[in-house]
Amino acid sequence: MIVFIVVFYNLNVNIVMFLKEFTKQTRHVRRSKLGKEHAYTRDKTYCVFKCDACNQEFIRERGKMNPARLSNNYFHVCENCDAKRFAQKRGVERRKVWTLTASSNIPISKL
Ligand SMILES: [Zn+2]
Repeated sequence: MIVFIVVFYNLNVNIVMFLKEFTKQTRHVRRSKLGKEHAYTRDKTYCVFKCDACNQEFIRERGKMNPARLSNNYFHVCENCDAKRFAQKRGVERRKVWTLTASSNIPISKL
């Protein structure tokens, strides 16, 4: 039973990877037809994620993300990690977990 609780806990940790979002102002100067300079600011929203593969925090521009993926139901993998390889590895891990029985005496560190 303990094995199952630990496995479930680990899955939860891996799912909560969308940490927060913040806005950053960027300044721009635009020159008008008359040669006058106009300063203006733009707000950009960024999202902070934790990579599901290497646990590094990384930032992504919100506008470049698919809004459907801005939830903790998805895995997020940073640019340094291979998302496809991660997904494959994840699938193998799942399969291992589901084939274990409650009476299994495999040490937790081998999961
Ligand atoms: Zn990573």
